[in-house]
Amino acid sequence: MAAPLPPSPFPGLFTDLRSRAAYAEGAGIYRILPAAVAVPRGVEELQHLVRWAAETGTPLVPRGAGSGMAGGSVGRGVIVDLSQGFRWTAPDWARRAMWVGASVTWAAVGETARPFGLRLPPDPSSGEFATAGGMVATNAAGPRSVRCGSVRTWVEAIEIIGADGEARRVKRGDRRGERFVLSPEQRQLVAARFPKTRKSSAGYALDRYAESGDELDLLVGSEGTLAFVTAVEWRLEPIPVDVAGVALGFRSLEQLAEAVPYLVALNPSAVELLDRTLLDFVRDEGGALPQGLDGLLLVEFERETAAAARGVVGDAVQGLRAVTMHVETAVDRAGLEKLWAVRRLASPALARLPPTRRSLQVVEDGCVPLERLGEYIAGLRAAAHRQQVPVAIFGHAGDGHVHVNTLPDTTRPGWTDALAALFDEATALLLRLGGTPSGEHGMGRLRAGLVERLYGPEVLRLFRDLKRAYDARGILNPDVIIPSAEWAPLADLKVGPGTAPLPNDIAAGLREIERTAGWATPKLELARAADT
Ligand SMILES: Cc1cc2nc3c(=O)[nH]c(=O)nc-3n(C[C@H](O)[C@H](O)[C@H](O)COP(=O)(O)OP(=O)(O)OC[C@H]3O[C@@H](n4cnc5c(N)ncnc54)[C@H](O)[C@@H]3O)c2cc1C
Repeated sequence: MAAPLPPSPFPGLFTDLRSRAAYAEGAGIYRILPAAVAVPRGVEELQHLVRWAAETGTPLVPRGAGSGMAGGSVGRGVIVDLSQGFRWTAPDWARRAMWVGASVTWAAVGETARPFGLRLPPDPSSGEFATAGGMVATNAAGPRSVRCGSVRTWVEAIEIIGADGEARRVKRGDRRGERFVLSPEQRQLVAARFPKTRKSSAGYALDRYAESGDELDLLVGSEGTLAFVTAVEWRLEPIPVDVAGVALGFRSLEQLAEAVPYLVALNPSAVELLDRTLLDFVRDEGGALPQGLDGLLLVEFERETAAAARGVVGDAVQGLRAVTMHVETAVDRAGLEKLWAVRRLASPALARLPPTRRSLQVVEDGCVPLERLGEYIAGLRAAAHRQQVPVAIFGHAGDGHVHVNTLPDTTRPGWTDALAALFDEATALLLRLGGTPSGEHGMGRLRAGLVERLYGPEVLRLFRDLKRAYDARGILNPDVIIPSAEWAPLADLKVGPGTAPLPNDIAAGLREIERTAGWATPKLELARAADT
């Protein structure tokens, strides 16, 4: 039972059960009833709230759309919903840059920038609802990150409110890291301990900070544990003129070991994988695909001319002729849209599965050096087979990064023990292969307890020092990135016998959001629905 909340002068603090219930879940696996919910309407209100929390020692859970997978936007403190009150944009087309408030989604940036021939290159599949604050806090990425990296590279500056309630701006190149300084020995430790993967969102990016000296690199990917992000200045790039692509089907995913490095050397803008489990779902949804495929790669090439885009597709097909059993090419944007329809059918099909095969994001975000991807997938499949938990594997093969949704029968006794064993085996496998447990979703509360296993105790100590330097009272998203002593990654699940009870209509509304990826829905609407 949570301690009662101290009296708050903040006018928009909702403590009624229905409001709290509407924020008990995000994407991912957890259901945790918060103590209260606040929806600040701008910087001043948020400062007011943070100062009250600092004085009273009340934990705050920053939140955008709630689409994060690692449980960073749910918790027992006060949920602070920034998806509503920070919706402004201020483009600077001459500089190819755009300031946006924390609530502005990737899709909204795209709509504003497209008429000017510009875009924000990293393209999370959740772009319709993921907020600027959430993307920066998780260092989000997407299919196109194989060429353009994660959002870190595209953040010019941010505005933050710290744990003391002070607002300030942090810019790329400011190098104002005086709150937290790494000694030469600590830099060496970081260089030795951080994984050499193409992507990582596994806690504080001390490796990037050691290179740049930029405070911005400490804050990007800090998952709401160091500061609130209230605004972001995005750097934009011109939209490439032409695009072409190819779908390549494989009889065995072992062939990825050869195919993926070959494709990455051709400088693609996306190399996405769907495994046989997802391909079966796609067929059930009416997608036309040949039988007998173990996996499909969807590959996109952006170039400055149509001839160059088509030429490189030809090279890809020719170079992989010996290992592919299915090839379908697309020579323009319309054709490519048709090819990618397969990818779009997959996620909703997963979200709609019944309790006898519920899709749960437990292993979910591992990333390994490119040359180890084949081994990672084979090892995962073997572990899943041992634990008798079906899995669907998909995602950003070109970055050595795949999502693994477990599909346990949640009506079968012992299913959570099997999941826990699979989580443990998959972590051991990732570490053995030099990988990271999070390529883009963050550590959240799901993976917080893996920090020490991944980086070792000295780096965990550095993480704790950094946290103290920014948030001495520990009010910002406690138990995220840095684990509590009671870390239990499979407690507080949103399915199963121990699930926290919620009003029926709100539980159904939250499930519907998950089934339809309706994360843009203002969550208080769920709480108010019964009043109307
Ligand atoms: C269908 C689906 C597809 C997805 N595809 C991708 C993908 O392709 N790539 C990818 O990277 N992710 C993907 N995700 C995960 C998720 O969308 C991203 O992590 C996204 O960046 C989260 O944004 P959000 O606004 O929902 O943040 P939330 O989920 O609300 O929060 C995520 C984390 O950020 C913190 N946070 C949020 N806002 C702020 C703020 N203003 N200040 C400080 N901290 C804050 C929270 O405390 C939490 O720790 C997907 C999720 C879904 C459901």
